[in-house]
This record gives sequence, structure tokens and C-alpha cells, in this order.
Amino acid sequence: MTTGFELPEEQEGKKPAPRITPDDVWGAPPPADLPPAHPPEEEAPVAGAPPTQAELATPTTATAPLPWESTEGAEPGGPDDLRPVDLVRKWILDSVPVLQPIELPLQEAHGCVLATDIVAQLDLPPFSSSGMDGFAVRAVDVAEATPQNPRQLRIVGRVAAGQQPDATVGLDEAVRIATGAPVPAGADAIVPVEQTSLQGEGVLVLAPVKEGAFIRPAGQDVKAGGLLVPRGRRVAGPEMGLLAAAGYSSLLVHPRPRVAVISTGDELVEPGRPASFGLIRDSNSFTLFGGVRDAGAEPFLGGIVRDDVDQLRETVLGLAIRADCFVSSGGVSVGERDVVKKAFFRRAEIDFYKVAMQPGMPQGFGMIEGKPYWGLPGNPVSVFVSFEVFIRPALLKMMGRHDILRPEVTAILETDVSGPKEKTVFARVRVTRLGGEWHAASTGPGQSNLISTIAKANGLAVIPPGTETMPAGTKVRVMLFRALEDDG
Ligand code: AMP
Ligand code: MG
Repeated sequence: MTTGFELPEEQEGKKPAPRITPDDVWGAPPPADLPPAHPPEEEAPVAGAPPTQAELATPTTATAPLPWESTEGAEPGGPDDLRPVDLVRKWILDSVPVLQPIELPLQEAHGCVLATDIVAQLDLPPFSSSGMDGFAVRAVDVAEATPQNPRQLRIVGRVAAGQQPDATVGLDEAVRIATGAPVPAGADAIVPVEQTSLQGEGVLVLAPVKEGAFIRPAGQDVKAGGLLVPRGRRVAGPEMGLLAAAGYSSLLVHPRPRVAVISTGDELVEPGRPASFGLIRDSNSFTLFGGVRDAGAEPFLGGIVRDDVDQLRETVLGLAIRADCFVSSGGVSVGERDVVKKAFFRRAEIDFYKVAMQPGMPQGFGMIEGKPYWGLPGNPVSVFVSFEVFIRPALLKMMGRHDILRPEVTAILETDVSGPKEKTVFARVRVTRLGGEWHAASTGPGQSNLISTIAKANGLAVIPPGTETMPAGTKVRVMLFRALEDDG
């Protein structure tokens, strides 16, 4: 399996981040475009000008187009002004900000990206301790010990984990010590309890130990001043444990974007309510909620908004205080009731355009109150695919993540897949590994209302523009949107 997609900055001709090497235990350094730990206050971002037709005709990408990004056949500036998927995505990724770092308690920082290098204030471990239950001794005193000829030492004290030693170790002396307890001054080795036997006030040592035996030295893990975790690293369990060990209870990280999810449509009802004839249940809110949360961001439902321009504007502006960005579905086409377009088009806050993709052609993107707003079409499959292609990577960028694209595999198609020649087709497939190769079977017809085709799938096969039918047996690239281990 490869991560077949390149990162946005690589597309701009910058050098890719160095690959991980065995010596490079921290992996690739964070991208150079992450903001500094305490960046100056910035003006609210603006989406910038959408790509013009001239720009669309002359792509700026320096590297080879990605498999699904071939502009061939997409005819930028051609019929219907279809915009190629790659350029729309690049424009969106360039427009969204990396969220300013905030200090979060350790547990809440889980899954977030560190905004600063974190160094050890003190040695780790902080003091020399015993690795065994036994006796702290001077190795030289027991160098000749054997079971037949044991060395007798005087027990001058004891120390348990969490205590200070109550004695030092001198000539022919021992301090009884527990695992994790600080090594008393004078001792340079631990004799495990199994190699001793008690005798009156003393202890018989039955075997020699080397200097340093079973002692865990201070600073052996990380020296004071050493790097614990670098900036740009995503905080997972191991990082949390290490930072907790070093005394950190909060971290400066890029926060999770709070994403307001809104559904538009007079025909929509919530899943728990009765739906009279002609009404349909709002599924998009939940597809998006799950997708946003899986991406590590924080979704909240803004509810169903009727096809009413004023209600939509009011709802969106009312949510702005607690959202970092918005995603709505429905109402971006040219119909009578295309309320999102009507609400935000006139003030040119959001650009509405057609992407050369199926499903998901009509889209809107822009800034409301300085925050990204995605207006997706209403059909459930279009919503899912658009989220995967445009929104998920953008949310990951906002969180300071570096690897923002789904992994992909090359798979053998088991079914013919057809679609409009001028568009990139994202076909729902189930990918399996058979005899050392990946196979991709379609999970159903291509219509964008067939929501079960997503639930059955674990990948999106990418049929580039210029192809009308990809016959069974052809190798295609597939974006995997579920971890294979989650697909049981
Ligand atoms: P629209 O883009 O608003 O014209 O909607 C296109 C299609 O998607 C229509 O059949 C809608 O009923 C359907 N649709 C819109 N919003 C939702 C939603 N939240 N959940 C399920 N289907 C929807
Ligand atoms: Mg609608």
C-alpha cells in the first residue's frame, strides 16, 4: 500500500519532506509552512480570488498531476466551465488557514498537532533507581560471592518506591531496596533478592554483580534539555505518556476545527420523526458529522434549514460564534429553491462553480465571517465524495496535519465502471486483497442518491477524465476511506 497522493506544497514544486530513516526516530520534520508557536495576530483569512478561466487553462502545478487530477479531457474553460478537481482542491487548500495554536490539557490535546518542540526540563528518569527488588550494594564487596562461599553484608537501611533512602552504603553494607526506589548513596549495584538469603541482621549474597547491575540511571531515557517530542508531531498515546512522564499537563497544539453542519431543504425531516409521503430523512447531516469526527475535527449539527434565504443567513451567522467553518448540503444548483446560492451569491462571499467530477458537480466555497464555508450539493453520495475530496484534507490542514490525503492502492477492477468522459468519476468500490493483489468491486450503480453504495464501500476508485468506460480487469487507483482493520 502506498500513500499515492502528494502534499499540496509539493505540488508547488517545493522539495518533499525527507523520508524517514532508521536514524531519524522522529520521522519527517514538520512542514515549513506551519505557523510559529506564537504567531502574530493575523487578519481573518479570505478565500482569495477563485481560479480564473485563464488559470484553469494553464495549471500552476509543477509536478506531474495526480492520478485523478489529469486535466486531460476536462476542458478547462470548455463546455459548462467545468473546473478540474485538482485546481479546485488546491484553491480550497490554499484558502483555509492553519488554526492558531492554543494550550490544551493533555487529554484534550490527544490527536492534535504540536505547535512547539517540547524539551525535557529535567533528566528522565529523574533519579537513579533500582530495576529489581533486592539489595543495594557496592559491587566490589560481593565480587567473590558464590553459593558455597557467600558474602555476608550488614543491612543498614531500607527504601521503598516513593521514599528517600534512610542510609548510605559503606564497606560490607547493604540497603534493602524495592523496584523503582532511589539508589542510596554509596551503592553501585543491586543484588536481586533471588541471589540472597537473610541471616539474622544481615544478608548473604550468593553471586557477584557487576557495577551498575539493575540500576536505571538518571537521564538514561532523555537528558535534561533533550528533545522529547518535535513540533508538527501528532499527539498519540505514546507522546502523551512521555510528556506526562516529563511533567507536562498541557500542550500548545493546533486545535480541532469546530465544524457547523447544516442541511437545507423543505423536504427534510430528522431521522427520529415521522416522514409523511414525499418527505425524506436528513441523512447528509450524519454522513458529514461522522466524516468530520473521523477526521479528528469537532462537528456539531446546525439542524435543518428550510429553503428560505433569510432563515439560512440567520442560521449561518448565528452559528458563526461557535464554528471555525461551515458545511451545508443542498441548495447550490440553479433550481427555484437553491437557497444557499441565493443567500450568499449576491454578496459574492461564496463562489459557486461546477467541478469536473461525478458525483458532486455543483459546489460553493468561500468565507463567511472569515471562516471557510463549503456549500455541497444535496445528493447523499455527492456529499460524501465532496467531503472526502475537498473538505477532509482542508480540515486536516486546519489542524496543522501534514499528511492530509487518504492512502491509495492500485487495484484490479472487477466490474466495468462508466461515467461522463469529461469528468473525474469517483466510483464506490469494495477493495479486497486476493493472491497478493488488490481487487476493487463496484458496490452499485453510479447515481448519486444511492446512499447504500457508500456504506458498502471502503474505497473510491478514481476514473480520470478522458475515459468513458473503464473495463473490468483494468488497474485503477483507489482512495481508501476506511482503515482496512475497521472493515471487518
Ligand atoms: P438539492 O441539491 O438541494 O437540489 O438536493 C438534491 C437532492 O438531494 C434532492 O433529492 C434532495 O432531496 C436530496 N437531499 C438534499 N438534502 C438532503 C439531506 N440532508 N439528506 C438526504 N438527502 C438530501
Ligand atoms: Mg434542496
